[in-house]
Amino acid sequence: MKCRKCQGELVVKRSCRRVRLQCKSCHQEYQIHEVAADLDEKTSAILEQYTTIIYD
Ligand SMILES: [Zn+2]
Repeated sequence: MKCRKCQGELVVKRSCRRVRLQCKSCHQEYQIHEVAADLDEKTSAILEQYTTIIYD
């Protein structure tokens, strides 16, 4: 998963009941629905572990 701003790597970040993707380089956070169309297999697999979490 690449950041749309800087092409840095996005990592899954869990906080309380929310999940975000955050860029390692510029620290931009994305909501799941913002990047849903671009999710790659690796990221999807990680997110599947959080199916009980509400994607707000
Ligand atoms: Zn970035």
